[in-house]
Amino acid sequence: VNTGSKPDISREKSAELYEKAKNYFPGGVNSPVRAFKSVYGTPLFIQKGDGCFVWDADGNQFIDFCASWGPLILGHNNAKVREKVTEVMQNGMSFGAPTALENELAELIIKNNRFVEKIRFTSSGTEAVMSAIRLARGYTGRDKIIKFEGCYHGHTDSLLVKAGSGLVTFGETSSAGVPKSFAQETIVLPLNDTEALKQAFDQFKDQVAAVIIEGIPANNGLLMQDAAYIEFLQGICKENNALLIFDEVITGFRLGFEGAAAHYGVKPDIVTYGKIIGGGLPVGMYGASAEIMGHISPDGGVYQAGTLSGNPVAMAAGIAQLTELLRSGFYKDLNNKTSEFAESIQRFATARNYKIKVFYIGSIFWIAFTDKDKIQTAADIDHNSMEKFKVMHRELLNRGIYLGPSGYEVGFVSAAHTKIELEKAKRAIFDSLDVVF
Ligand code: PLP
Repeated sequence: VNTGSKPDISREKSAELYEKAKNYFPGGVNSPVRAFKSVYGTPLFIQKGDGCFVWDADGNQFIDFCASWGPLILGHNNAKVREKVTEVMQNGMSFGAPTALENELAELIIKNNRFVEKIRFTSSGTEAVMSAIRLARGYTGRDKIIKFEGCYHGHTDSLLVKAGSGLVTFGETSSAGVPKSFAQETIVLPLNDTEALKQAFDQFKDQVAAVIIEGIPANNGLLMQDAAYIEFLQGICKENNALLIFDEVITGFRLGFEGAAAHYGVKPDIVTYGKIIGGGLPVGMYGASAEIMGHISPDGGVYQAGTLSGNPVAMAAGIAQLTELLRSGFYKDLNNKTSEFAESIQRFATARNYKIKVFYIGSIFWIAFTDKDKIQTAADIDHNSMEKFKVMHRELLNRGIYLGPSGYEVGFVSAAHTKIELEKAKRAIFDSLDVVF
């Protein structure tokens, strides 16, 4: 039964705060997607989060699937994380000197992850990726980087580049302020395309320092790559003495403790992490073999630093969160919950002949308005379908479900989502889809 569109929730206080914020920040926000430009209404100003819920300034409660864009795999305000952070904070906030906490988080990561022997902590995913690129260039003595259309790696200059025309091209800058000469060092290829890779390595023989790819591309929908393609990618990098960088800022500690690299069974040369390792505080990280990491200063000539890198409070949050993830059965439970959730939305839509496809892996899901069985490249996405997402997003907010405010963004299930809330969320999604179609 189509229950019809729900009346809009009150956004009065959020609207007031947003008006104020516009005086202070471009677009009223500190990160563009938060401005709700591609969905209806004013951005919601969040006041509080607990478990799988958030509350906005008007007191509306939502089941949250944005999870601060991924870091909150245990949900909001997790007691273990909060207690550890509170304990560590009593001793001061930052020293700009080594602390035992850095060792503790590093040990948790390195002992349980076969892809890194040595690591560096940064304060964001962007910094981690930027440093990984510099390391690859310093290590190989080459300048060119290959990236993929549809992958996002943060807002570092050389990666804010999109595909130009033609199969193998230098990219075009995708932000004003990025020098053309930077884009000249970035080759942008379509995902899941072995021919394009071959052509690029032929054309730029002995010039490519690294290929960077998201573990599972999850910033432009969820673009599942063929396992054979990822294996091919690893092989062609090896043949050409180019490094393979896996950007696991989303997938790291999300698909499992060892991320997408373990999922595919490949061994990237450099891995970047962020989001989950900070337990909700600002932490990024890159790591590699001891040999490659030996090129970072002060041991080697590749410079990288940070006033707040390895910040003790952030380390404490990471330690508490990762410790929980190592509990036996953690990922199995979380991933099972997610597949049940995604599959039942798919079943509902299929039964009703609604053209949607729910892509999911681990605890990441993406509801695509499409009748394609596979969406593996940015070009496969139907941009007009985002109008349908907009309607669904509004209907979901009005039914107490918070998804990130863009149809290109994935959703995250956390350990704090219980069967009860997932059941409620499913009902709300069903009713919203009835309105959309
Ligand atoms: N890499 C990937 C795959 C990301 O998804 C993001 C952010 O969403 C980044 C890098 C940049 O991380 P941050 O936003 O922490 O700078």
